[in-house]
Amino acid sequence: MGDQQCQERSYLSLKIYPPHSFSQKALIDTQQKYKALYKESIDNPELFWGKVAQEIDWFKPWEKTSNGELIHPQWFCGGSLNVSYNCLDRHLKGNRKSKRALVWEGENGESLTYSYEELTKEVCITANVLKKHGVGKSDTVVIYMPLIPQAIITMLACARIGAIHNVVFAGFSSKSLLERILDSGARLIVTADGGFRRGKIIPLKTRVDEAASLSNQIKKVLVFKRTGSAVQMIEGRDYWMEKERAGVEEFCDPAVLDSEQPLFILYTSGTTGKPKGIVHSSGGYLVQTAFSTKMIFDLKEEDLYWCTADIGWITGHSYVVYGPLANGASIFIYEGAPDFPSFDRFWQLIEKYKITIFYTSPTAIRAFIKWGLQWIANHDLSSLRLLGSVGEPINPEVWMWFYRHVGKEKCPIVDTWWQTETGSILISPLPGATPMKPGSATFPFFGISPEVVDEQGNPLPPGRNGFLVIKGPWPSMFRGIYKDENNYKKIYFSRIPGVYFTGDGAYKDEEGYFWITGRIDDVINVSGHRIGSAEVENALVSHPAVAEAAVVGIPDPYKGEALIAFITLKEGYLASTELVQVLKDHVVKEIGSLARPQEIRFLDTLPKTRSGKIVRRLLKEVSLQGRITGDTTTLEDSQFIDKIGKI
Ligand code: ATP
Ligand code: MG
Repeated sequence: MGDQQCQERSYLSLKIYPPHSFSQKALIDTQQKYKALYKESIDNPELFWGKVAQEIDWFKPWEKTSNGELIHPQWFCGGSLNVSYNCLDRHLKGNRKSKRALVWEGENGESLTYSYEELTKEVCITANVLKKHGVGKSDTVVIYMPLIPQAIITMLACARIGAIHNVVFAGFSSKSLLERILDSGARLIVTADGGFRRGKIIPLKTRVDEAASLSNQIKKVLVFKRTGSAVQMIEGRDYWMEKERAGVEEFCDPAVLDSEQPLFILYTSGTTGKPKGIVHSSGGYLVQTAFSTKMIFDLKEEDLYWCTADIGWITGHSYVVYGPLANGASIFIYEGAPDFPSFDRFWQLIEKYKITIFYTSPTAIRAFIKWGLQWIANHDLSSLRLLGSVGEPINPEVWMWFYRHVGKEKCPIVDTWWQTETGSILISPLPGATPMKPGSATFPFFGISPEVVDEQGNPLPPGRNGFLVIKGPWPSMFRGIYKDENNYKKIYFSRIPGVYFTGDGAYKDEEGYFWITGRIDDVINVSGHRIGSAEVENALVSHPAVAEAAVVGIPDPYKGEALIAFITLKEGYLASTELVQVLKDHVVKEIGSLARPQEIRFLDTLPKTRSGKIVRRLLKEVSLQGRITGDTTTLEDSQFIDKIGKI
């Protein structure tokens, strides 16, 4: 919040130090070391990133570290590499040949493990099948798959031959799929007959058929078998992968690709509007995702690392697939939902596989809290040594729950701030070094210079809410919005010239910690004070009755804007006028009378994107005009619109 009031809130002064036992073995074990290396990285970024890039195998070394540009940046200019080679082959030379690369469990309890050697072979075979079907360098391939090993294998197979993948989350409808197919220009789709979700079969192939029937752009569909359900196969267009792989070579030469060769297109979550097709490079992207994974997750050879994101999101690209595999890590993936067949599914998996690093989202943690501690109590989670959060600001209360009940107060939490556009984490604690403050993403990663500024781009003093911008370029920065140069420049580089505009609001505290306060579109102006949605939501969520909260502002003749809060309740609490009063008083106590919600409305669920983010713009529309006209294609629950019309 834009004044001193927020400083009075009790948890903002709380500082939690990394456990000594963790720091002792960490790559960066003190804040002094972080600060020294950070300074080095900012003073001479060329030298710094040049050194970091040597951790990647290059077929041809780069001539220039970067072109120095923020708009249309280029990194490791003139260098050539192959991303799949870096994630696979190079580990076979050392002692990782038989190391677990990928451990998978299906929703139905099936399990599979691939060593690095096995994964390499599978990727090569799939790459050769793609080639056989005419896919070549720079062709776009849409991947529409459940979270099964073949999805990751296909991503890596594209990378191997220089094709550009466009992963579309399997939960999307045929309409959303079609939009992404058309926008990205793909002519070939890789899919599965179906996927399992909460015991039901998601008819992926049928949805592909629907999408393909509406356009003649799709020429080929390659289908993996997952559920065994009956699907229609169109001769000359559709092919079973199992048949196609028979007879192809078991090795595929990794293509020698320019550092700037696009690796993938990925659509953003759509929290603030229509999703954007973000394009990422090969060299810069890999260098930074690999390096950030190693430092932020403090990877150790024996870790079994689980990032719960779907590969349909950027977190799934950078921190399920590319970052960890480039480091030769063992990754775990799970096909299904956290609440099926019971609410303790994730805890069972952590116990069974002895997961050591668990990286998830605030929305998942809020669901765990809502379901209750009884689901976690009987599971042995002692294998865990590090926790992570991504996707939204994590409410301090939710952070504390995660820290106490999942991490048992012995695991640091890395609250990682970043975006599809940034390619990798830009603000986060280093788990062995950074004193944590629940709810703060803490400090910038190496080589990153964020700032909180006003409308004119002037840096703001501590405690003042403003726009979060990044001052200089970084290697994993996106290279554009696919075929949309105008919006690329307009959205990110024109509002405040000379910096990258994130679209998020934030403030820095006296100690330089960054606090993300929500989207700038969601900033609420009450009597001249700029209040971030996250700040009031944090206060609401700190009340024992509240599971989740979303706060929006509507015009008010006296105050400028008035606050409307939408909340869901925890099990065992009922909506009542008394509770409304209690919650309003609670917010006043936590933040001040300025933040008192004018109205509190109770919902069963909040509108969320498929990636689990609360979509406040729709709640605002409902509050203002009683109906929704904005983009709803990425909404998790399409019935939400009907339901909300009735409240
Ligand atoms: P769109 O750009 O289409 O509106 P989106 O911004 O939700 O969708 P993503 O790129 O998936 O798409 O999400 C990035 C955003 O998620 C950030 O801009 C930020 O608002 C939020 N976010 C991610 N991690 C954190 C975090 N640790 N703390 C606070 N906010 C976070
Ligand atoms: Mg965004």
